Amino acid sequence: MKKLKMYINGKWEDPSSGEFRDIINPANGEIIAKAAEGDISDAKKAIAIAREAFDSGIWSDLLAVERAAFLYAIADKLEKRAGEISYLETLDNGKPLHETQFDVADAVACFRYYAGMVTKPDGVTYQVPDPMQAMVVREPVGVCGLIVPWNYPLLMSVWKIAPALAAGNTVVFKPSEVTPVTAQCLFEIIEEVGIPAGVINMVMGAGKTVGNEIAESLDVDKVSFTGGTATGRHIMKAATGNIKKISLELGGKSPNIIFADADFEAAIDYALFGIYSGAGQVCSAGSRLLLEESIHDQFIEELVKRAQKIKVGPGHDDETEMGPLVSKGHMEKVLSYIEIGKQEGAKLVCGGSQIMEDGMGAGYFVEPTIFINTTPDMRIVREEIFGPVLVVQKFKDEEEAVRLANDTDYGLAAGVFSQDGAKALRVIKKIRAGITWINCYHPTYNEAPWGGYKQSGIGRGLGTFGYEEFTEVKQININLEVQPTGWFAK
Ligand code: NAD
Repeated sequence: MKKLKMYINGKWEDPSSGEFRDIINPANGEIIAKAAEGDISDAKKAIAIAREAFDSGIWSDLLAVERAAFLYAIADKLEKRAGEISYLETLDNGKPLHETQFDVADAVACFRYYAGMVTKPDGVTYQVPDPMQAMVVREPVGVCGLIVPWNYPLLMSVWKIAPALAAGNTVVFKPSEVTPVTAQCLFEIIEEVGIPAGVINMVMGAGKTVGNEIAESLDVDKVSFTGGTATGRHIMKAATGNIKKISLELGGKSPNIIFADADFEAAIDYALFGIYSGAGQVCSAGSRLLLEESIHDQFIEELVKRAQKIKVGPGHDDETEMGPLVSKGHMEKVLSYIEIGKQEGAKLVCGGSQIMEDGMGAGYFVEPTIFINTTPDMRIVREEIFGPVLVVQKFKDEEEAVRLANDTDYGLAAGVFSQDGAKALRVIKKIRAGITWINCYHPTYNEAPWGGYKQSGIGRGLGTFGYEEFTEVKQININLEVQPTGWFAK
């Protein structure tokens, strides 16, 4: 049984509590590893080390090309171990192997993207009155606390670690206590490439202890968090002590709008992909399907047929198209939402239960589920379920589609399907969401900013925006003709 340790100051450490947490394979409920149960004292230690490392300049003083070389080296080693790491990610998180293979490849590309960025032109100059010259430079923020969820354990970590390191920060990283397995692989690689001790540290453990300490500590300059909106709200409050910089990537209840003039086949295909990839445990999932009235019945008939055909099973099986939910607790939450939907009077037209056949009852498998006849006030329409549960809303015209789409506290993502390009663009421009698609759903790129409006977060990850979030901006004003101002008499 593999024991996962913490990585502090370049060393693998046991937790000060001496305790290890069982890590479970969600496909069969078996224990796959024991992970260090760090606590507040471990978090404090890692923060102090990261502080010392930042203040010493050991990382930020390196040439940009030198930091880039470390990131390229991590990418290369991650790529070499891609098969093993995607296997472990599937074991830990449950999603099908073809999804975790994609995630690992994306993580490799993310390191390369930020390695490339760090050596590119940086800063600006301004024309100001002579004899002054004004310029702006970007500098690292300092010690960055990075806290990630369980739905893309490796990828979410890399989305933060790569730009944070590229920009010259030092790091205290906390993986989700539910899925810490591939973080161990990443830190083995970080050790192998020789990133100086103390620059990047990993503390495992619970959010309420380790995560909270990272958010509260006066020695952490920035916290970058991905997870639920309720936790994000807590982190925001915890960060007030030293007016920490915060980036929050939170939840969603994203609308996927299908107009009657959409390409029917493509819209069906993406509606399925939008909600059932990752078993719906995707922050940007198209969890609300908005259908134009005239195609509603025909669309639902075909969608249900296709959803019932989805092959649900263990992520390591070749035929599996959708894996289990990540944990028993999470499965119970999703099943309870299905009960709530029934009680609220929505009509269940597909799925709705845990899958017990073929010995699958030991795992956390839930059928692809669809509710129709919903109303905008229902909890299943308003709250993030984070599982394979699609709620369908009907609309009459463009105006109603926009109104329903925006009738949410969230603003993470949205999709529009229509063969009328002007209409699709008109609608997408009216949707209050940060990540949007026309005639597709879900493609995302390291180059483009990721993040939400409203209660889906603050700031952006990825792209140049994501890099800038890990920098401070400094103006430097230079006097090219040094002489007294004469402001005060001699
Ligand atoms: P979560 O909020 O429960 O936990 C996320 C991380 O925060 C974990 O590491 C956890 O230990 C830590 N944490 C928990 N309580 C904390 C506290 N009080 N202080 C500090 N840290 C704390 O979320 P989850 O259940 O792991 O993940 C699912 C959520 O993540 C969903 O809401 C999903 O929408 C969101 N998510 C958002 C994005 C995005 O990019 N917007 C991406 C992936 C997931």
